[in-house]
This record gives sequence, C-alpha cells and structure tokens, in this order.
Amino acid sequence: MKSSLKKRLVFAFLSTILVPILAAILTFYLGANQIANDEDELDQLFTDVRREIRMNEEKLPNQDAFYQEIKTLLDRYQMNITIEGEGDEVLFDSRTYIEVEELNSFLPNLNTFTIQVAGEEDRKWGVTIRANSAQSEPFKRMTDIVHILLLSVGIGVLTLLLMVVIWTTYISRTVLTPLKQIYQATEEMRNGNLDYPIQYKKRDEIGRFIQGFNVMRQHVKDSFTKQKQYEDARKQLIASISHDLRTPLSSIKGYVEGLRDGVVRNEEMKQRYLQVIHDKTTHLDHLIEDLFEFSKSEADQLAIEKEVVNVVEYFEKQLIKYQFDLQEQEVELSYTIEPQPRSILLDPIRIEQVMSNLIDNACRYGGTRIWIEVRPDQSERNVIIRVVDNGQGIDKEDLPYIFTSFYRAEKSRSTQHGGSGLGLSIVKSIVKAHDGEIDVESESGQGSTFVITLPLYVNGEVVDL
Ligand code: ADP
Repeated sequence: MKSSLKKRLVFAFLSTILVPILAAILTFYLGANQIANDEDELDQLFTDVRREIRMNEEKLPNQDAFYQEIKTLLDRYQMNITIEGEGDEVLFDSRTYIEVEELNSFLPNLNTFTIQVAGEEDRKWGVTIRANSAQSEPFKRMTDIVHILLLSVGIGVLTLLLMVVIWTTYISRTVLTPLKQIYQATEEMRNGNLDYPIQYKKRDEIGRFIQGFNVMRQHVKDSFTKQKQYEDARKQLIASISHDLRTPLSSIKGYVEGLRDGVVRNEEMKQRYLQVIHDKTTHLDHLIEDLFEFSKSEADQLAIEKEVVNVVEYFEKQLIKYQFDLQEQEVELSYTIEPQPRSILLDPIRIEQVMSNLIDNACRYGGTRIWIEVRPDQSERNVIIRVVDNGQGIDKEDLPYIFTSFYRAEKSRSTQHGGSGLGLSIVKSIVKAHDGEIDVESESGQGSTFVITLPLYVNGEVVDL
C-alpha cells in the first residue's frame, strides 16, 4: 500500500493526541463502573438516617436524648448529621457531641450530602450528613473517584509518553535514517564512488526522492563511462590512423628512395617498383577516403540523397557490373533477384557503396564464390539483401565487434588484407540512415553471410521496419 509521508505524519499527530485521551477515558470508565456498585451502600445510608430520625422524632426537641438514640448510627457510619427545621433553624447538630475530624480532602464537600426527611404531620427536615473519615463506607466512594481520576490522568500521560517515544522512533527510522543514507551516498559520489545505490523499498515521498537520486547516480555513472569509452576510442583512433597511414607511407618512401639512389638497374625492376608505389598510394587513397567517410558518419553528416528506385532494376544493374569486374579476379558472383514490382526509397550512391564494401570484403577475405539474393520478406514490407561468400569466415569472438570502427579481426590483421577496419562501420551508418538493419552470420572457415533489411516504399510511404 502506498502511504504518503504526509498521511503518516497526520496519523502520528492525531494518534498522539487521541490515544492517551482514549486510554484515560477507558481507565476512568472501568474504574467508575466499579464505583457504581457502591451506589447501593449510599442509598442504605440515607434510608438508615431517615428511619432513625423518624423513629426518634419526639425526642428531637431534647438534643441530648436524641443524640443518645442515634449515636450508634453515627458511630457506624463515622459521620455527623445536622438537622434543620423548616425555618432553617438548627434543631440538632451532632458536631456539638463528637469532636469534628477535619477531612483532608482537597475537594471540599466531597463527602457531604443533604437529604430531605419527612416526619409525621407533614413535618419536614433538611438533614446534612458529613463524613468524618474518607475511609468509611460509603464515603470511601468519593475518595475512590479522586483516585480513579488521578489514575486516568496518569495512564493518559504514560500513554502520551509512550506514543511520543514510538512515533519519534518510527519517524527517525523512516525519515532520518534515509536522510543519513542520502548524505552518505552524496559523500561517496563526491569521493568518486558511483557504485553506491541507496536501498529503500517504500514508495513514499522519500522513496521517490531516493529513486530519483539513484537514477541520477546511474546517469552520472553512465555519462562518466561513456566519456571514458569516448576518450579511449579517440586514443585508439589516433593510434590506428597513425599506424595505418605510416605503414604504406614508409613502404612508398623506401621504394622512392630506391629509385632515387639508382638501386633499380633495369626497366623490369623499375616497373615493379612503380607498381608497388602505385598499389600503396591507391591503398592510402582508400584509407583516407574511408577515414573521411567515417568522420562524416561519426558527425552524423553523411550526406544521403534518397530517391525512389525500382528494386529489381537498381540491384540488377549494379550486380551485372560487379559480376563483370570480378571475372578478372577469378571470383564468381551469381545472384538472384526475385521479380517484384516494388519500389524503395534510397540513396543509390550510398547503397552502392554498401554493396561494394560487402563484395570487396568477401573477395578480400578469401571468397571465390559470392552469392547475392534480393527478395522481399514475408510481410512484403521490407527487402532482404543477403551477401553470402565462401571465404575464411569470422571467428565467434570477433563477430560482435566487426561493425565497430577500426575493428579488424586478428586473422585479418596478421594477413596482408590491409583494410582500415572502417568499412563495415560505414556500411552500418549508411544502412541505419535508411532506417534499415544489418546483421551477420558466420563461422570460422565456413564463409560469411551479411543480411541487410531495408524498408520498402509502399503507397508513397516508407514502411516501418
Ligand atoms: P576492413 O577494412 O578491415 O575490412 P571492415 O570494417 O570492412 O574492415 O571489416 C572488419 C573486419 O570484419 C575485418 O577486419 C574482417 O576481419 C572481418 N570481415 C568483414 N567482412 C568479412 C568477410 N566477408 N569474411 C571474413 N571476415 C570479414
């Protein structure tokens, strides 16, 4: 259940007030019930007083005689009585006979009752009964009431203290402890430890705040990690560029120096030297072109100019050209394009760049037979282009990284394929810019299959992949 901190505080506040009051009322109620049972004894006292006065009515004018008659009653109840006639004149006052004990009650008149007593011939007396001791029944009742009152107040105060202790502990646990944890976490963050999540399960205001804090911490951690990765990648990029540019350059330098220093003795050797220089400069040219494209794709500035083309016509035209070019390299390229009246919105030059990169890789990594398949997928919303080769394949551990810039599988590094490690990364950027996807399936020694999915152009709209 989601209980907000505000609700809990209001509940704490109200219960701290109400629970002690209820406890006091309950104590008083139970105690008063007990006292109510003594009510009969008080009635008995009044009956006894009435009967005794009536029985000795004729002796009333003689106070001494009257006192003798009712002395037993006064002793039994430990009380004094005063009898007043109709004109408020005092007819009898037992206090003249018994030494009056002062009741130490701090509530005066608590043990004093006045009753009316009717005698014969319509005579009426007002009788005041005063207890001499708060201990004798039924006057004890009044003392009991005071005790119960005190007990109720005591229990109320104790409950109040208990509630204060309980709520203080609770609030300190639910508010102060998490605050301490937050403080601890900020200290940890300040010291550079970003792996310090705060554990707090409740979904109240503090819980939401802590959740936000944890998200913020994760965010800061992620951006630190990204920053680090970016910096590492930059370092690696600079190292790779310098390495890849320097290798062909130093080789060219060597051959040029050879020519200059007259090491070349005949025309054939000269031609060989020039051929190497030409190959190396071509390679350098490719490298620089790749780098240029890569930097554009990194900056999301890859110029893409899309136009609607017919799937069959577009791919057929390209593949015929590659088929022809590859014949010279003794690579057999065959293809199948499923006939379809489909259109696709693409940048013809960029997608040609993609195809050229994949075919080029297939040849460079040992492919002698390349199989290309172009067909719509089952939903007929996308076109699938599969480029399959029978080359050296890609090791399982290299597979996840081959689309990463500058990544070259160990095998390709050790052999003289001389790639930049940028080709597939550029390919992926271009495919993504067409809202498409690229994937690879390969096994070492078993050839590779690159699969591109591009959304078709249906009813004047590019469909979602
Ligand atoms: P490179 O310029 O090194 O070819 P790419 O980005 O084009 O860079 O490819 C990255 C790596 O993926 C290559 O170094 C290579 O190891 C591997 N690779 C790409 N295409 C193939 C393929 N058809 N067969 C085997 N390995 C491949």
